[in-house]
Amino acid sequence: MISAQRIRVTGVVQGVGFRPFVWRLARDLRLSGWVRNDAGGVDILAEGDAADLGCLGQRLRREAPPLARIDGIAVVDVAAAGLRDFVIAASGGGKVATAIGHDTGVCGECLAELFDAGNRRWRHAFITCTHCGPRYTVTRRLPYDRPQTSLAPFPLCPECAREYAAPADRRFHAETTCCPHCGPHLELLDADGAPVAGDAIAAALALLNAGAIVAVKGLGGFHLACDARQPAAVARLRLRKAREEKPFAVMAANVASAAALVDIDGAERERLASSERPIVLLQKRAGADAALPGIAPGLAWLGVVLPYTPIQWLLFHEAAGRPQGTAWLDQPQDLLLVMTSANPGGEPLVIDNVEARQRLAGIADAFLRHDREIVVRCDDSVVRSAAGGFQAIRRARAFTPRAIRLTRAGPGVLALGGWYKNTVCVTRGLEAFVSQHIGDLDNAATCGFLEEAVAHLLQILDVEPAVVAHDLHPDFHSTRLAARIAAARDIPLIGVQHHHAHIAAVLAEHRAEEAALGLALDGVGLGTDGGAWGGELLRVDGAACRRLGHLPLLPLPGGDRAAREPWRMAAAALHLLGRGEEIATRFADQPGAATIAKMLAQRVNCPPTSSAGRWFDAAAGLLGVRPVMAFEGQAAMLLEGLASAHGAAAPLPGPSCVGGDGTPDLLPLLAAMADAADVGAAAAQFHATLARLLAQWVIEAAEREMIRTVALGGGCFLNRILAADLREKLQHAGLTVLEAREVPPNDGGLALGQAWIAQRSI
Ligand code: ZN
Ligand code: ZN
Ligand code: FE
Repeated sequence: MISAQRIRVTGVVQGVGFRPFVWRLARDLRLSGWVRNDAGGVDILAEGDAADLGCLGQRLRREAPPLARIDGIAVVDVAAAGLRDFVIAASGGGKVATAIGHDTGVCGECLAELFDAGNRRWRHAFITCTHCGPRYTVTRRLPYDRPQTSLAPFPLCPECAREYAAPADRRFHAETTCCPHCGPHLELLDADGAPVAGDAIAAALALLNAGAIVAVKGLGGFHLACDARQPAAVARLRLRKAREEKPFAVMAANVASAAALVDIDGAERERLASSERPIVLLQKRAGADAALPGIAPGLAWLGVVLPYTPIQWLLFHEAAGRPQGTAWLDQPQDLLLVMTSANPGGEPLVIDNVEARQRLAGIADAFLRHDREIVVRCDDSVVRSAAGGFQAIRRARAFTPRAIRLTRAGPGVLALGGWYKNTVCVTRGLEAFVSQHIGDLDNAATCGFLEEAVAHLLQILDVEPAVVAHDLHPDFHSTRLAARIAAARDIPLIGVQHHHAHIAAVLAEHRAEEAALGLALDGVGLGTDGGAWGGELLRVDGAACRRLGHLPLLPLPGGDRAAREPWRMAAAALHLLGRGEEIATRFADQPGAATIAKMLAQRVNCPPTSSAGRWFDAAAGLLGVRPVMAFEGQAAMLLEGLASAHGAAAPLPGPSCVGGDGTPDLLPLLAAMADAADVGAAAAQFHATLARLLAQWVIEAAEREMIRTVALGGGCFLNRILAADLREKLQHAGLTVLEAREVPPNDGGLALGQAWIAQRSI
């Protein structure tokens, strides 16, 4: 008995080898019909024996290709048409409801070919197959087919075309496949843009070995590379990039090559080698800073990433002496490269060849580039291990455009995020798509990138937003853009309080619907009362949010500038402690110390803030860790580094509340910091005491409010010592603790929280 079914598969099913997989299954089960991509996903018509058709449905789920993610399989019985064969048909059109696959590191089979001198793709810088390579960053629009990608200008040669058309081949319908005959062209240019003769990889490596800075075209943008073991090269890169002190990540050939520098456990090993290839922050071993001067000085963590593009692999292969085969891949390799985003001046990542020559002039000594266009700008993602998995710190390459599954569908929402570490979010049905990391909106280029990202996301998802959400701060470019979009489309605008959004982002990714307490420990965000909030205890019930309490207020002497100068926060603390007379002598090396003391005494230009970040700054300032910060969050990161190096410490004893509402009294803690003799011990004590006080605050509020769920959000939760200690104490008290994992706890998660709240406000 011949039956027929029309089967629709949704999810990440394009560009992952799904059609050839269906083709092979259908052949195997002796079914006839066709499979094709359309904007909704994969569309299948299958005819054959009823039992075999049943098998097809089961095996579609069970045996799906490694990069596929099936969200749904819908089956409709149709009339059999008596088809003879099973074929892969041309793509259909229609409304877009599928997702593009993510960019993936080179797979094992491609690596074996890349290092096999007998293979026609030996040392081919663009090797890829159905299971690996670029996707999101080369795709202009859906459906995912070669003409819609930046491989369109490279027609397949006869041999590649044969593989592309051979169902049994790994490159069957691999849209980005190519070979040395038909693919893009790799070249090395010198600082003036003149081609360098000889083998591009060998010449680039020679330059790196000589201490040069080479711009290397990656998947989502250019990197600036230099030899991580040459302090002079690293210092030169810092000087030219004006990235004075921000930590660099290093690229190592494999885990074994980094093992002397950092501790790597099994889960971290797996994450490093995963197809997403994020930068993984790893706990430094003693001596790491001495071995790699200038890479991430004073911090507890070192970012490590393994090669993920063929070009990166070829540099390591060259350094290893061009070994034949893959045995060298497991052996420790000496070469260690700084691979930092080529984003001079904090502007967006350079993606275009011409742009690279202009914007990296004076920075790069050479350009290792090619003519495969980068369509979507996408930084490297950064993660760190955390209880129950990994925490995103920067969510970009390979994690976008993956959707966060929502609990409720609704009209499309566009949320525009905050100011720092901006991302945007678009909802479509039950999915929320958070954009790649866009950056700080402090320059015109990044603001332009934001607008581009919004347009691209709406286009690729084919969403007409019904509402636009934004931060309450009126001066953010994201807020102004929200107003412009809402006016142009004549749709409502929803302003969302910053810390409400931080907590909502955590609730969204955990699919929590119940009322929850939210502890937001953050730099700063505008409060509903116009104040500078940042250490908030909230009760969040969907779109409703009540401020239960906040950290004691600190004056910001000189306003915003105090947020960059921990010594000013230390002065503020001394003032509150009634020790204002110490300010001028303690900070005699800071111009203006006497003035600041006077400002504090007279309460002139000292707006108050409840920001938790400023309490960290005050502690760091009192301990002399860092008088003036080179980048946002630096003082707190150094404080964590000191505490981590010292090890666990006991919290300060004593009573802990001010007023009757359980608000933690942090002043005695700062008094201890002001008089500390051992900076490391004091840093550890600061963390331990803060965790104890915060836990007590939250636990008491949970009892009062009769709530069992607590969400932790805000940038301070990147501090792993504080996060781990607090989590343990809250769980010990029987509370369910929700933390940011898929989406960063910092402002990179705001857009998701805004979208979640907007969904519940309309
Ligand atoms: Zn591959
Ligand atoms: Zn070819
Ligand atoms: Fe924030």
